[in-house]
Amino acid sequence: MVIVGNSIPQAATWLQNGFPVAIPTETVYGLAANACDPDALLKVFAAKKRPLFDPLIVHLPSLNAIVPYTQEIPPFAYALWERYSPGPLTLVLRKSKLLPDLLSSGLPTAGFRIPAHPIALDLLNAIDFPLAAPSANLFGRVSPTTASHVVDQLGDTIPYILDGGPCLIGLESTIIDLSGPYPVLLREGGIPSHQIEDDLKISLQRPQHTFRLPEGFAPSPGTLESHYAPIVPMECYHNNEELSTAIRRILLKKEIGWPNPEVEISERTPSLGMLRFQSDIPKTFRQLWEDSARGASLNVEILSQSGDLKEAARNFFAALRKLERDNTYILAEKAPDHGLGLAINDRLQRGSK
Ligand code: AMP
Ligand code: MG
Repeated sequence: MVIVGNSIPQAATWLQNGFPVAIPTETVYGLAANACDPDALLKVFAAKKRPLFDPLIVHLPSLNAIVPYTQEIPPFAYALWERYSPGPLTLVLRKSKLLPDLLSSGLPTAGFRIPAHPIALDLLNAIDFPLAAPSANLFGRVSPTTASHVVDQLGDTIPYILDGGPCLIGLESTIIDLSGPYPVLLREGGIPSHQIEDDLKISLQRPQHTFRLPEGFAPSPGTLESHYAPIVPMECYHNNEELSTAIRRILLKKEIGWPNPEVEISERTPSLGMLRFQSDIPKTFRQLWEDSARGASLNVEILSQSGDLKEAARNFFAALRKLERDNTYILAEKAPDHGLGLAINDRLQRGSK
């Protein structure tokens, strides 16, 4: 059984011996392994059931430490890192030969990040190799923001979890690809892309299309059509009109009892989970549910009573986990379409495909 502890020397020893260790970062918990050791990386792919075509991000403690693992660092990368690192920003750069092809799924590039969590930084400073650290969850599922989330999904497959408390940001890093002629936003994340554009007076290209599994290589799973998915079906809505339509349809068709072919939920009592951004659902909908759902329960999770996007982001994955655990169907209200709301909505959209 996995050990949950706070010993950096113990975590370092497991890593030096080629084993994956879950580590806290300010974004989500990562499943870390020596980025230069293909055998250790294979254990990460295996534990996560992650397809080998999905490349891993490399974590290092400083800009100086990143240099040897890249072919060159463009001036714009320095500008970005000076402003936002350590923090939730990943830059895709051309990699050096020190990083194996397995890490980058055969791509000539790799994603690099300097995490801000003090425990992650202490660990990175205690070892002499970079850490590949994708989120410490099963591939495609909801990301972990506490050590116990990691235990839930990976407790049987990894030896050690370094506990650093709940993640402060709660959403994955923003990913910008700097390996081509223009900076390209690959994934919305912990630093809103519009803030980066405003701060640095630049514009980021945004790929227009998404990719479906398993058709070939995706440049970033942030662009995969389905990702961050709860184990029960999820549907998103924008406003009360859409909510009304969805609730009436669910009541009519009893959709909440639909089994998900991938997960055994048939023994669960049908129950509707509602993710709300700021407020409870209007009384009229609750009344409608109570009058017509014949005892099926309705569970609401509110992300931020004060409507604060940072608080909402921090609570987001934990709320989704609670809803998927207790319900057979999830109706999720979209966050406001700006700032961190864009990253939340991106996860909601991909989680509901
Ligand atoms: P995860 O930590 O599981 O959220 O995944 C990290 C993200 O970084 C994934 O979406 C990766 O595909 C992305 N990534 C890592 N390396 C590259 C790369 N060389 N090019 C594009 N995206 C990358
Ligand atoms: Mg992930």
